Amino acid sequence: MDIYAQRQTCMSKTMERKGFGGPRNFGPREMTKTVCSDCGKECEVPFKPTEGRPVYCRDCLPKHRKPRF
Ligand SMILES: [Zn+2]
Repeated sequence: MDIYAQRQTCMSKTMERKGFGGPRNFGPREMTKTVCSDCGKECEVPFKPTEGRPVYCRDCLPKHRKPRF
């Protein structure tokens, strides 16, 4: 009887499939240099700023984030 052994193998396979072996989300992010629309400081954002839309640095972002209720 090796039901337990089989179950363990199955579990480890599931873990692999879910990506427990190596997280993908922590790869190098493409940073875009831009200027904060609030304080005018140069900053880098992990996304491409949309033209015409304000971009804020880490310090100013919380001030401009709309509170969710
Ligand atoms: Zn700022």
